[in-house]
Amino acid sequence: MRHRAKATHHNRTITVDFCDESTYFQVLSDGKAFVEFVLAFILALGFQLAHKTTCRGGGCLTRHSHYARVRLGGLTLWRLQCTTCKAVFTVLPHFVLRYRTMRPAVARDALIATHGGLSLEWCAVICHISPMALYRVICAFGQHHVVTVLTRCGLPLPTYILADEKHSRCLTERVYLPTIVRGRVIWHLGYSASKSAAAFTESYGVFQRAALEYEPSYQVRGALTDGFDSTVSSMRTLFPGARLGFCLRHALNKLPDKLIGVSASVRQGLRSKFHALLHRCRQRKSLRVVALGQRLRHLANRIATTVGEAHGERVRQWFQAKKAGWYAVLEDPQMPAMSTMLDQAHNTIDRKLFAMKGFHHPEGGQAAFLTGLAHLYNLIPYQRRALNAGTCGVEVEGGRVPTSDWMLNLQILTSGGFR
Ligand SMILES: [Zn+2]
Repeated sequence: MRHRAKATHHNRTITVDFCDESTYFQVLSDGKAFVEFVLAFILALGFQLAHKTTCRGGGCLTRHSHYARVRLGGLTLWRLQCTTCKAVFTVLPHFVLRYRTMRPAVARDALIATHGGLSLEWCAVICHISPMALYRVICAFGQHHVVTVLTRCGLPLPTYILADEKHSRCLTERVYLPTIVRGRVIWHLGYSASKSAAAFTESYGVFQRAALEYEPSYQVRGALTDGFDSTVSSMRTLFPGARLGFCLRHALNKLPDKLIGVSASVRQGLRSKFHALLHRCRQRKSLRVVALGQRLRHLANRIATTVGEAHGERVRQWFQAKKAGWYAVLEDPQMPAMSTMLDQAHNTIDRKLFAMKGFHHPEGGQAAFLTGLAHLYNLIPYQRRALNAGTCGVEVEGGRVPTSDWMLNLQILTSGGFR
């Protein structure tokens, strides 16, 4: 109920980096100097402020803006008002979290421990906060859609995507986490109690709406899935023009399942043949559907003669059902071929979900919580020994982050007052 009341007025809080606390308290006494500092900070980020839609004030405050000091929770804050549209921006210094009494430094340690897979209870012991407080901090960051945060980092909306659902558990119920990944970045992490096409369409639709709001002409050119019916049909509904491909590695791993009762070594041998076939097709520049179809037919015949007609026929039917999806991968070099990145993302998220399973309940804020986890996945830098050590997913994909401090980036990028 509180959420509904809150939604009626726009959150125009902006987090500003004052470098250290003493700087903040210095400029606090001088309104003009304060406004100058804030304007310089926004200018350096290259961000614009979220004025009212009717505003003709040029999208930024001027030094003539109105300002007033308010005291909130023992801290003095400045509120700046646009003289044109009267939008009011609350300036939050970097050492304060919005609505939280928790210090960012404490939240940082707890969030990184959570991200690393430590349980809520252990994070609570180490960081001296309650598990519920940590859960709420993640939900608070998750109020802002991933699309908003990633586009603020200058990342273009993804034209080729990986889409798949993680199967998880909420208490005893099975739940699904529809996910969209491009490279090392999660663009959507949803929550669904049903695995129906309608439920998945609704979840992926949240991403689509956020993307279209940012760029009305946004279109997905290609989507890679594992071939699950509900996923495929939701992609078809939402992105009718997109090329739909099926993950090649998934296909390779599925082949042995089609040969039940056949000895492991023979199955392995046939899998290698299939691997060589797909590999060769990927290398060919001018591949025609006929070529792939022909090779698949040969392989199915070979399976029939090696391990029996029943197996051959089963594989043949499976090839028939899936080959359009494989061909879609092979015909477009920009199409992702394997869902490896998505599996990695799901494994990371899974550890956290397991760590937080005590908080899952039907009335809980799963959507916000999962979005919060997606922000952590995108913004926390990789560990020292990792391939891209020291940089975060957003940077690996070519995005810019406001500062070298991931926690501060998370605070700034999820501020409601930036556009
Ligand atoms: Zn304005």
